[in-house]
Amino acid sequence: MVDVAGHHRFSVGSRGDGIQPRTLEVFEDLGVIDEVISAGMAAPVTRFYADGRVVWEGRMAEPVAPRSDVPYPNVWFVPQWRTEQILRSRLAAHGVQVGLGAGVVEFDQDEEGVTTRLNGGETVRAAYLVGADGGGSTVRRQLAVPFVGETDEDVRMLVTDVRVDGLDHDYGHAWMLDGGAFLVFTPLAGADDTFVVATRASRIAPTLEALQQTLEAASGRTDVRLHELTWSTIWRPNVRMTQQFRMGRVFLAGDAAHVHPPTGGQGLNTGVQDGYNLGWKLAAVLAGVPAELLDSYQAERLPVAARVLGISAALLEKHLNSADDAFERGEETRQLDVSYRGGPLTLDDGSSCTLVAGDRAPDAPCLDQGGRPVRLFNCYTGPHWTLLRFGVAAPVLDRADGWSYRIGSDLVDADRHIQDAYDIKDGAAALIRPDGYIGAITSRPADLAAYAARVMS
Ligand SMILES: Cc1cc2nc3c(=O)[nH]c(=O)nc-3n(C[C@H](O)[C@H](O)[C@H](O)COP(=O)(O)OP(=O)(O)OC[C@H]3O[C@@H](n4cnc5c(N)ncnc54)[C@H](O)[C@@H]3O)c2cc1C
Repeated sequence: MVDVAGHHRFSVGSRGDGIQPRTLEVFEDLGVIDEVISAGMAAPVTRFYADGRVVWEGRMAEPVAPRSDVPYPNVWFVPQWRTEQILRSRLAAHGVQVGLGAGVVEFDQDEEGVTTRLNGGETVRAAYLVGADGGGSTVRRQLAVPFVGETDEDVRMLVTDVRVDGLDHDYGHAWMLDGGAFLVFTPLAGADDTFVVATRASRIAPTLEALQQTLEAASGRTDVRLHELTWSTIWRPNVRMTQQFRMGRVFLAGDAAHVHPPTGGQGLNTGVQDGYNLGWKLAAVLAGVPAELLDSYQAERLPVAARVLGISAALLEKHLNSADDAFERGEETRQLDVSYRGGPLTLDDGSSCTLVAGDRAPDAPCLDQGGRPVRLFNCYTGPHWTLLRFGVAAPVLDRADGWSYRIGSDLVDADRHIQDAYDIKDGAAALIRPDGYIGAITSRPADLAAYAARVMS
């Protein structure tokens, strides 16, 4: 983004601060989960006030305990600027620097690659181009693919990040304004005086003075002082998506492909899942796997984005029709049930267990050969496929060096967490994709070998 002084800088807003459970699992795989956890906080209790006293308090969603298959069951709140910073540092550790000010102006693609011209005048030649350039995507516009949906100009929400003295940072705080809208202060992790302030009241200007005045009028408190506004946006419901996530060698991901209302906290999360789905496929194709693998990106992600967009839009509708300014976060928004069932990368003999190809591969506590605790998620971590074999008769893959585990010897399912939970028969094998979804599950060696030859070689 460009600031008022015309300098390019990384974005500073809290924006997509709700990190969903499935995204936390992705962050574990990417090696940033510890930083994300220490940079964030659980959903705070919000106190609603009237006449100077608390009249109701509660959370968007009550926290639930972790389970053996779901290690991160709750949304975790981290300001988006901080999440982006953590991911940039991780990339830097791999030798990749995220540049500022090098915007795509236009591109041409041919049979071998894509030539992209940047705004400094230089050109970049690459095998593929991924347009992850936000809702106003230049890449999408040049592809001329329609971005179908609607923007509702009648609804307007002011969202700002402010530093506040005199407000308890352990809680959210909400006051009703004249006209029925709420003024909601939600604590932001990372600084004990920073809150995100949101209101649907249309007349409030995005300035410290206007917010201070509104707060004083609503709360009757003059001891609470707002003293720095670090980011603000006027948000309007904009619900759109494209029907094409790929044209030739050019892909669209994140807001460039679908924009969500913030209800349900899905935008950032769906973008992360796009990248997670596409990343390993691009790496595999660049390493020699047939390029048809890339067709599965749109086949898998487009229906998921459409469903998630439907959920966010339905929550928005509910939110606009109720007096509640808090954004509801429910079971279906956790993205743990995202599935690629029936998609082009699934093989399922239907009789080996109750796990289904295309679903997220579960976590489970096991023991290694030395009797030390190890989780199945530890086995999936990294860009490789993982073969889980159940019993001695389970199919083997000759290429499975280092990432094939026989449950019962290499890994002990000590309390039969996985075999019992999913009724897995001895003799079955599951091939887990690099992005943690079940690719194949079968007891038939020939089918497994044919599947592996199709998607891995
Ligand atoms: C008020 C608000 C609250 C939100 N709350 C949530 C929430 O709780 N949970 C959630 O999941 N999501 C939420 N979101 C949505 C979330 O912020 C977005 O979905 C997310 O930022 C999308 O990420 P992105 O990388 O696809 O796009 P962006 O974050 O828009 O990033 C696009 C990047 O591309 C760059 N760029 C633009 N043009 C070019 C070009 N021509 N060439 C090269 N680069 C370019 C931009 O500078 C930017 O860095 C919220 C958004 C808002 C505004």
